[in-house]
Amino acid sequence: MPNADQNDILFDRARAVIPGGVNSPVRAFKAVGGTPRFIRRAEGAYFWDANDKRYIDYIGSWGPMILGHGHPAVVEAVQKAVLEGFSYGAPTEREIELAEAILALVPSMEMVRLVSSGTEAAMSALRLARGATGRKHIIKFEGCYHGHADALLVKAGSGLATFGHPTSAGVPPEVTQHTLVLEYNNIAQLEEAFALHGNDIACLMIEAIAGNMNFVRATPEFAKRCRDLCTQHGALLVFDEVMTGFRVGLHGAQGVLGITPDLTVLGKVIGGGMPLAAFGGPRAIMEQLAPLGPVYQAGTLSGNPVATACGLATLKEIAKPGFYEALSKKTQSLVAGLKAAAAAEGQAFNADSEGGMFGFFLMNELPQNYATVMTTDNAQFNALFHGLLDRGVYIAPALYEAGFVSAAHSDDDIAVTIEAARQIFKASKRR
Ligand SMILES: *Cc1c(COP(=O)(O)O)cnc(C)c1O
Repeated sequence: MPNADQNDILFDRARAVIPGGVNSPVRAFKAVGGTPRFIRRAEGAYFWDANDKRYIDYIGSWGPMILGHGHPAVVEAVQKAVLEGFSYGAPTEREIELAEAILALVPSMEMVRLVSSGTEAAMSALRLARGATGRKHIIKFEGCYHGHADALLVKAGSGLATFGHPTSAGVPPEVTQHTLVLEYNNIAQLEEAFALHGNDIACLMIEAIAGNMNFVRATPEFAKRCRDLCTQHGALLVFDEVMTGFRVGLHGAQGVLGITPDLTVLGKVIGGGMPLAAFGGPRAIMEQLAPLGPVYQAGTLSGNPVATACGLATLKEIAKPGFYEALSKKTQSLVAGLKAAAAAEGQAFNADSEGGMFGFFLMNELPQNYATVMTTDNAQFNALFHGLLDRGVYIAPALYEAGFVSAAHSDDDIAVTIEAARQIFKASKRR
């Protein structure tokens, strides 16, 4: 079968042994339909699927690959580290180096603990916030994703007096009964929640530039109100910067907004594509963690020597002068080009970006919350997704995901992407 689609063959094989054929649900193309592309290799701004078809990659492993794939300095650091051993279960100098590098760039953090995934980091930050404050309740916002810890897989209850309901089977209601889910950018509701429950709230966790409901910024007023209400009520403000950290700028969303959180959760870029994440904050809070304090947290592979080598090499590159200016310019030119193409073809469209992260909407306004994001026309998005895929441009296979540009994307890649989108907008007008 010389013309058989290798992705179809692999998908069949995968589904026989892995639930849904994937190890993380959004990879399955369930929202957009069709066969997931099985990736064979990647280089720079591209990856190639099982048919050896090349795509311009706007996912970048969902954020980590900010330098593009296979950056020589990162590859060299990882190769060197591998030869020195994969994992020791004992401390290393490289963990200190990475901790020092992170703290130097995120001034709100005085201490940091390294873990292996964003889920683990957010879950640990939550436990630390509860342990440090001696309180149970937490606030999260609809449309923000903080990994899949039980207490965070939750949707809003009816009214502010009732707490959240689980969004996943296997999560007992008792586990989410302390999680209050509020609407993003809704100041009145936030104030009401603090008025009702303020003295029992351990922390408020937020993606201050949300990348898990496409791309939605917290307004400066809303972000400031989060900070002030937490301070006023003795709750900890936790910025989940797993996606935005070292992605929207060298100092994360907190740098962009000029707001100092109590705890910061990091992941994705700090591992440069290896399993690595972190959480940190002021010394007095972080010293509540075991082995110093009563809040337990641990990990066999935490601070893994190969992952830390990859993260350190990545941070070294992105901390070079001018890195984010160049990356931002690239992302802005993509966004501006897409807007112009949509306008030329009469397609309702809006888009926004910060640093190397962007989002676009097939509607004229920029949504302020999850409910508005979800009014996007699914069929229209899916047609755009598959149109781009056919033309060798790979964007996230769901309309509620952000996009990512890397330092390896060329002006030509961006021009090709814009032209592909224009063709699809034009064709959809004719239909
Ligand atoms: C990706 C992500 C997580 C979860 O990280 P994993 O490494 O996938 O567990 C948590 N929070 C945010 C904001 C994320 O984007």
